[in-house]
Amino acid sequence: MHAVPRLLRFLKYEANRLQVTIGFYVNVTKQRMYYESSPIAIAHHLDIEETVDMIFSLLLEKISSYVMMHQRVPLEACTIKRLKVIVKREWNGKLSLPLQYRVKCDGPAPGSIKESVDLALLTQSFINYHGQRFGHFPISLRVNLFSLRVCATTKELYVVPYLLRSEDWTNTPTFLIQTNVTGEFQGLQEIHNVHKFLKEDSRDHVFECRLCKSHFADRTQFALHKQISCGSGFGVWHMDGDSIELYENCMQLSRDFLHFPWVGIRI
Ligand SMILES: [Zn+2]
Repeated sequence: MHAVPRLLRFLKYEANRLQVTIGFYVNVTKQRMYYESSPIAIAHHLDIEETVDMIFSLLLEKISSYVMMHQRVPLEACTIKRLKVIVKREWNGKLSLPLQYRVKCDGPAPGSIKESVDLALLTQSFINYHGQRFGHFPISLRVNLFSLRVCATTKELYVVPYLLRSEDWTNTPTFLIQTNVTGEFQGLQEIHNVHKFLKEDSRDHVFECRLCKSHFADRTQFALHKQISCGSGFGVWHMDGDSIELYENCMQLSRDFLHFPWVGIRI
């Protein structure tokens, strides 16, 4: 369960978007089958765990209903010893918010008048003074800065203030400090409606998918569900028992680092 997120975090380095497809090789009642998810885009490294969780549970659900219908056995009769992960790394230079914040659709707050900020100066000032918090940050920069944190125990993602220069949150230009998968600074992303951005999602609203009628209490899960088109693009293939797959350009990926035996195939 940790192998795939670990691999994707490794591949996310210096890529700002991954297109990911996950496949399970399944042995059941002396047959071999291959189940594959539809491709899904991961725009922020903090979305990796949640996206992989969603794909895994959908794949297991599909396998479970398929083997129950065609082989009349439960999921427990299946053995899965091999996975295939197809990853396309993309770089377009744009920063993305984590999905949890992306679904809040950040737009300008009604009636807010913000001064324009010299982003180059702000970025340079942040780089120079990072590590000496509240030190010599130029007085001329009236901005509020926030950063992302992940709770070590609950894995919950939240935002904390990094530098607050004004109490007038509505009209003060606000930025989120974005870091890459290794924690290196990547850039500052403007947040237009800080109140909406910081507001906790209420859990009492249930979202219903208009296409498949599934219900979600969590807006992020609902967005992921829509991204994979209700799981409709999942495929299943029967494989000959003695079939072999031949690939060129194989490379063994570092087991010390990834903790699991992965073989990379460069396409
Ligand atoms: Zn649906």
